Amino acid sequence: MTTKDHPLVARAHRLARDLLAPLAERVDQEGVPRSHIEAIRRSGLLGVGAPASYGGWAAPAAVARRTAEILAGACCSTWFVQTQHHTPVATLARSEGSVRERLLGPLARGELLSGVAYAHLRSYPRTPVRVTCERGGWRFDGTVPWYTGWGLNDVMLLAGVTEGGEVVFAFTEAREQPGLHASEPMRLAALTASRTVSLELDGLWLPQDAVALHKPYEEWAVTDRAKTVDASPAVFGITEAALAPLDEATAQPLRTCLEEIRGKAYALADLPMTSERMAQRLALRIRAAELMRTATTAGVVAGGGRSLSLTGTAQRLAREALFLLVQGQTAQSRGAHLEVLVADAAPAGPA
Ligand SMILES: Cc1cc2nc3c(=O)[nH]c(=O)nc-3n(C[C@H](O)[C@H](O)[C@H](O)COP(=O)(O)OP(=O)(O)OC[C@H]3O[C@@H](n4cnc5c(N)ncnc54)[C@H](O)[C@@H]3O)c2cc1C
Repeated sequence: MTTKDHPLVARAHRLARDLLAPLAERVDQEGVPRSHIEAIRRSGLLGVGAPASYGGWAAPAAVARRTAEILAGACCSTWFVQTQHHTPVATLARSEGSVRERLLGPLARGELLSGVAYAHLRSYPRTPVRVTCERGGWRFDGTVPWYTGWGLNDVMLLAGVTEGGEVVFAFTEAREQPGLHASEPMRLAALTASRTVSLELDGLWLPQDAVALHKPYEEWAVTDRAKTVDASPAVFGITEAALAPLDEATAQPLRTCLEEIRGKAYALADLPMTSERMAQRLALRIRAAELMRTATTAGVVAGGGRSLSLTGTAQRLAREALFLLVQGQTAQSRGAHLEVLVADAAPAGPA
């Protein structure tokens, strides 16, 4: 079966066409409704990468990427809320122990939706969330700067770092509870609809059997670094959506670039990591981001003044693109992207 023919790709297209795209500007202003999440749950897309033995689809990476492109291109806020779920599923699929048996099935089948709170680990050795062994379980203290899907998620996978430099990832219910307080939903230039909050942790205690991952920071960071150098499928999805309404003379050259960058990025992501490939992948991530910026800017320019209306698609895509420039950013990717921006702006030769 080709990626195009996979049932989940057909379902993603249907959801995008019938529900997500027609309501995207409204959702952008009013927030992702529960009914969107219900539709995603029913579609089976929450189990795209989950093991078949737990009720998931165990679909190839190409299917996961294509469905992400389709959802993000239709409604980036809904895509972003549901994309959080895939890290908890992948973490449980690689884990052992009782939490896997308790949660992997319900998450794979979409009966429960999970969020994640772990991007703050990337600022190590700074530890915004500290974890301490206490009463046979783990105590979490500190601040999670970003947590998406508050009020929509059932559970969250929360991560922190121990004094000994180990990461601990554990599940808890995604609601106010002793030791866990959420801020008001943030008002942002984009993705306000994703119900993103910050979390204050003040002695949140979780039992040992809630732990899905516990290993030295460096061991975890090796896998995480490989993830953050890749271009997100959402970037390609937004680019495609921005090109769709443009006239052919404008869209065609950009579409050719899209195909080239996407083809190379996905091919490299499927190969084992080497330091040379790491650099190539990061370079493609940046090229993909710059192409997205160009495509979404072209959408605004082509639409003229009308583009600025909050009911217009071009402005929404341009703001969603801004968000994708920083999503999953690390110190390394930020530095490399800034270098490219400076080099592109510099004069080509002596004046
Ligand atoms: C709307 C929105 C929703 C989000 N939702 C979630 C979510 O649900 N779950 C989640 O886990 N994340 C979420 N994020 C986090 C997102 O992936 C991060 O924005 C991204 O990783 C960039 O990090 P930052 O801006 O928080 O960190 P910054 O503080 O700007 O840091 C960026 C990078 O620089 C490095 N760095 C910064 N300070 C230091 C330091 N003092 N020492 C060493 N290194 C440092 C780190 O590598 C860090 O990753 C969300 C972000 C946004 C904007």
